[in-house]
Amino acid sequence: MRSGVMLSRNIVCFAAAGLLLAATYFVGFNLAVRLDADAAQSRYETLRDAGRPRAAASYGGRIVALRRKSGETDEALAPILADYGRVLVDAGKQQAAAETLTAALSTSWGRALDPLEQASLEATLARAHIIAGDVGRGVSIYAEFLRLSGDHGAGAHAHDRYMVGGETRENGKSRFYAEAISDAEDLFAETLTPLGDPEKFHGGREEKLIAASNMMDLGAFYASGEQGSYAAAGLLASAYELRRAVLGEDHQDTVQVAMMLGPVYRRLGRLKDAEKIYLDAFHAQEKVKGSNNPDLSLYIRLLAGVYEEQGRATEAQALYVHMRDLFRDAFGEQRYAANRARDRSLDIDRPVSQQFLLPANYLPGDLIAASDFTVPLSKNSGIDEMKLRLAADPRGNQREDNLPARLAQLISLCRSDTGERLSLRSGYRSYETQRDLFQRIGHQGTVTPPGMSEHQTGLAADIDVNGRLMRQSDKAYRCFEENAFRYGFILSYPQGNDYLPGENSFEPWHWRYVGVGTAQLYREAGPFNRPQEFLSALKCYEERAAAGAFAIAGEPDICLDGPGGAGAKVAQKDANEAERPRGPLDAMAKAARKITGSSDARPGESRP
Ligand SMILES: [Zn+2]
Repeated sequence: MRSGVMLSRNIVCFAAAGLLLAATYFVGFNLAVRLDADAAQSRYETLRDAGRPRAAASYGGRIVALRRKSGETDEALAPILADYGRVLVDAGKQQAAAETLTAALSTSWGRALDPLEQASLEATLARAHIIAGDVGRGVSIYAEFLRLSGDHGAGAHAHDRYMVGGETRENGKSRFYAEAISDAEDLFAETLTPLGDPEKFHGGREEKLIAASNMMDLGAFYASGEQGSYAAAGLLASAYELRRAVLGEDHQDTVQVAMMLGPVYRRLGRLKDAEKIYLDAFHAQEKVKGSNNPDLSLYIRLLAGVYEEQGRATEAQALYVHMRDLFRDAFGEQRYAANRARDRSLDIDRPVSQQFLLPANYLPGDLIAASDFTVPLSKNSGIDEMKLRLAADPRGNQREDNLPARLAQLISLCRSDTGERLSLRSGYRSYETQRDLFQRIGHQGTVTPPGMSEHQTGLAADIDVNGRLMRQSDKAYRCFEENAFRYGFILSYPQGNDYLPGENSFEPWHWRYVGVGTAQLYREAGPFNRPQEFLSALKCYEERAAAGAFAIAGEPDICLDGPGGAGAKVAQKDANEAERPRGPLDAMAKAARKITGSSDARPGESRP
């Protein structure tokens, strides 16, 4: 076009001979370019389809250069740029690929693409960034996918994944995003070291902090899977190092990553690294909260667990003793008396899992709308799922000392602490609801068979954060982890549990009420990550607490394994005595396990 304008000016300015010469040259040049570009295009396609990306890439470069030279804009070239970008990736030219794909995606052609096609191009771009060494940019794309994947990304086996108002949440888009993230796992494992690579992140303070948040989200996602530890270690360690460099090691956000990284190191057998990271977190908390604060117990417990695993029993024992002293100082002797006198008729400490099944006719008698106690809701207040048990403390104040009121207080505390939006996603669910859902969509391996869900007790609350299920990387999760026990809640399905069918039943969003006394005892009796066994042997723990004699490091826990361990078996028998639908339930559970097992197996997966 521009040449055309120039040409018309030339008519005025130059002699006819000059004009003829110019016109001839112009036509000839364009013809040559067109022919050359067409020839390059056909050569490019042949080589590309023959699986020779390196050779194809040089022709692709030529096409783009020639067309740009002849005046074509990136807008017109966008489809070619997208294709060429992919070829560059295959040719191993990641830096050039990243630039080309970015150019294609930033055109209006790129923005108007079908969302799935656009996402697939973005996934290619993310890989190119990461392999080219610009991990921050790649991570930001996957973190966006994680947000878009919604609850698909919250956990591979979320038993509540399809539970929304009884409707299935089948969504091709969110599934695509979740799969893209899952595919990137190997890439992170290969490009990041388990001890972090802070030098792979460029930019200023803000950019680094954003990269750290994104890595924390992705790291938490991989950490919740069976195979993701290596990728999680690289991401979380990098996030930790970045935050340490930018915010300092005592900052709460730095400690938050440490708390997620520690368990990953333990799983990888990197006990020295786990010890170091827990020590750092402990010292950071000690500085902030003072050395006599019972909140330190969480950090002490984690550290003691590492010592125990390293065979350093004496040190572990010293830590447990210290931890119990902190509790005793904080809560006093009256707590033990209160525990002994606790009214058992409330039935709020019943274990529920595939080992401790609930009978079909189990129906709590004191269900109440959670909204009556100003619990913020994710759904319409009229439905069953927005109900919870009242579970009022018989010796307390009726308005304040009950499940929904305490949940409302806990949510309000964590909302003001973190600025995140918290709400109740799912409370009570009847045996029939669970059964119907399981029959309808159990084949997808994402629904818990009836009788194994704590939701049937009305004591469990699934918590949403900013509109999707709570994740380990949410600040609100950390707030719950530190404070829920004070309000009578514990995490029912912690990392590594086998309470639900399926490979991974870690559910960071599922909190269960057991009452304040029991929740405190659970915390104190630790290190403990088996809430259902704890509940089944509660009497034994209460007696030991009253005697001030919990299990110490290196010794078997007699409430579970020793002579007192009978308590566990008795409680299990109690839980199943009312009805015995074990046969069909077991079959269902087995089927679910089989399905989830096969749908999630990733052949060829191996880690150094
Ligand atoms: Zn739940």
